[in-house]
Amino acid sequence: MNVEVSRERLDLSSTVAEGDIRCLLMVLMHMTGDERWLEPPYKPKRDVRLIPDPDAGLPQAIQDEIRAAVVNLFARGHPKPVISDPGDELMLRMMRACLGENVTPEYAPLMREEMGFVARDARWTKAPSNETLAQQHVLIVGAGVCAIALGVALGRLGIPYTIVEKNDELGGTWYINRYPGCGVDTPNHSYSYSFGSRNPWTRYFCQREELLDYLLRRGKYGQATHSPRPGLILLDLNMPRKDGREVLREIKATAELRKIPVVVFTTSKADTDIESVYELGANSFISKPVQFEGLVNLMRVIGQYWFGTVELPLAK
Ligand SMILES: Cc1cc2nc3c(=O)[nH]c(=O)nc-3n(C[C@H](O)[C@H](O)[C@H](O)COP(=O)(O)OP(=O)(O)OC[C@H]3O[C@@H](n4cnc5c(N)ncnc54)[C@H](O)[C@@H]3O)c2cc1C
Repeated sequence: MNVEVSRERLDLSSTVAEGDIRCLLMVLMHMTGDERWLEPPYKPKRDVRLIPDPDAGLPQAIQDEIRAAVVNLFARGHPKPVISDPGDELMLRMMRACLGENVTPEYAPLMREEMGFVARDARWTKAPSNETLAQQHVLIVGAGVCAIALGVALGRLGIPYTIVEKNDELGGTWYINRYPGCGVDTPNHSYSYSFGSRNPWTRYFCQREELLDYLLRRGKYGQATHSPRPGLILLDLNMPRKDGREVLREIKATAELRKIPVVVFTTSKADTDIESVYELGANSFISKPVQFEGLVNLMRVIGQYWFGTVELPLAK
């Protein structure tokens, strides 16, 4: 069952009346630090359905008491939470109480990171020199959601990377699948990049069109902070659905994309191709090696040149 709740503003009592009891209990615990909210008679029942009952299996009187406590808590403004970071031990107890099951300990640090209590980014204890970093060029195959997130993480560590994609557009699953009604079945806030802003998703489970708008920065998701742009584009010429020359023409005709260097990376060696892509504004033309080893070596050279030698415009 998909639950779609309108995003229009509701008053506090009506909002709390709609709230899932488990979430409300955790809000009470977080805000008050009072551990009785983790114990019976408030302990939710285990419910393994994708969307469990919002009443958490608790008697009506107990639900009413919990909802009233939350309304009371916020009735006089915005109190400061008593707990700023629950730490792993309390987080685990909260998760176990919330789900009514024996959640294993490794989920606690993961959830603290997911909720922003602790920093997510990997950091160097001792940063390697730029020269060393330039030699560690990472090749990421496929421009789906995971690849984009990995690219951002590597970029923050100063590790050069190249994302290659066989389709003519990024988005992975969300670009490839296009049957009517295609969309996520996990609440789509999970699809917000944690390094981008939280988005005003129109639905709890959004459809592929909205996800693609988000990934491609179209429409209301057009802001730069929502999704990173590549620093360099490797473009094949012979692609399904859209020819590489056409893509190149579009990139160079689009103000926001024009600055991104385009390296044409193709099996062709034809003089006419070389001539025409430079004419269209390509920044390099490279013939793809046939052997894997040759490809890896070439990627290293491309990485060293584009990310270690030349200065690129700042990615927006
Ligand atoms: C209809 C549908 C609904 C889904 N709903 C959810 C959901 O609600 N929650 C959830 O967590 N997951 C869901 N999934 C799973 C979803 O696929 C993943 O969550 C996520 O999108 C995968 O991202 P990814 O970047 O790992 O891979 P993908 O999105 O699959 O991206 C991989 C990319 O690699 C490219 N590629 C592959 N091989 C090569 C190659 N040799 N050279 C170049 N490029 C290559 C592909 O073209 C593709 O663009 C759903 C999947 C589908 C199909």
